[in-house]
This record gives sequence, C-alpha cells and structure tokens, in this order.
Amino acid sequence: MKNIAMTFSLAFLLWIPVACTGMELGDWKSSSNQKDFSLNHQQILKHLRTATEAAKEAVESGHPPFGAVLVAPDGETVLMKQGNVSLMDHAETVISRLAFAKYDPDYLWKCTLVTTVEPCAMCSGNIYWANIGNVVYGVEEITVRELTGADKRNPTMDLPCRTVFKAGQKPIRVVGPIPEMEDELLATIRAYWKR
Ligand SMILES: [Zn+2]
Repeated sequence: MKNIAMTFSLAFLLWIPVACTGMELGDWKSSSNQKDFSLNHQQILKHLRTATEAAKEAVESGHPPFGAVLVAPDGETVLMKQGNVSLMDHAETVISRLAFAKYDPDYLWKCTLVTTVEPCAMCSGNIYWANIGNVVYGVEEITVRELTGADKRNPTMDLPCRTVFKAGQKPIRVVGPIPEMEDELLATIRAYWKR
C-alpha cells in the first residue's frame, strides 16, 4: 500500500512541471511552431535582420556570409552579434563559446540564438554544450547546400540541427525555417556565390 502511495506521489510530482508549461514531454522533439516560443513573430523577423547585418559584415571581412545573434530572455535585448570568422569558426560556434564563457548556464537556457542559416552539426553541438535553450534559423541547411555546392570555402553539410539536438538529453526548442525571410536571407548568400 505504501509503495502504491509513493508511486502516485511520484507520478504527481512528475506531472506538475509538464502541466505548468502546458507542453507535452514529446513536443520538443518535433517542435517547429512558434506557439509559446520565447520570441514572438515580429521579434524573430527583427533579430533575423540583425543576424543578416552580421553576415554582411563577415563578407566585408572576407568570410562566408553567415551571421547570428544571441537574444536575452526578454526577447528584445541583443547580447551578442557575430558573423562567420573562418572555416572552423562559424558564427554560431563563436557566439556559443563566447556566451558560455560570459554567462551562467541557467541564464543561457532562457536565451535564444537566432541565425541566418540552420546551424551545422558542429554549431548545433556547441549550442547544446553551451546550454542555449532556444534556436531560430531563417533558411534550411539543405537549401544553402544547393547554392554553395562543393565549394571548399564552405562544404555545407546536410544534417538537420533537430536531429543533432534529439540525440542529446535536453529539450532545446527550434523554430525554422522562416519562409517569408528566405529571399531576403538568401540574397547575401547568392551574391557571395554569384548564383
Ligand atoms: Zn556551423
């Protein structure tokens, strides 16, 4: 009888956080909608445009046209803005490592990394280990791969960031792609690869 009571108590305790967030346990694995996301749609568009500025600055410095920003839990404040630096130092990897060194992991879990293009496997790994809890990307990696081709400056992969995150142990939320931003975001990439 005691064991049954304990089982019920445990079930109730496990149920509380799920009920409070209104999110089912499996939701994060396929989450692509913006319902209950930390940024609203207007904030997503605004931050994607700021990330595009970082991508353009990267090009001016001689690097591939990708950019990202780290947004505070308030959904408004841009904490960091970063463009690609090199073949290894992608915008999202650099920003994750700088953020990890600067902020508390619990704080980063409530932040959002907004990036022009879906994070590659390397960047997704850095986001995961830095404990950044939310990700927005504008254009899918596979779409960019069709533009970059086999260019040695950016041999684009084809491994969705959701697949990388699903292999981990944390419910990182992902929103993307954002179709209405695709032409605007791809313009910089098309100009760089002249396609
Ligand atoms: Zn990357």
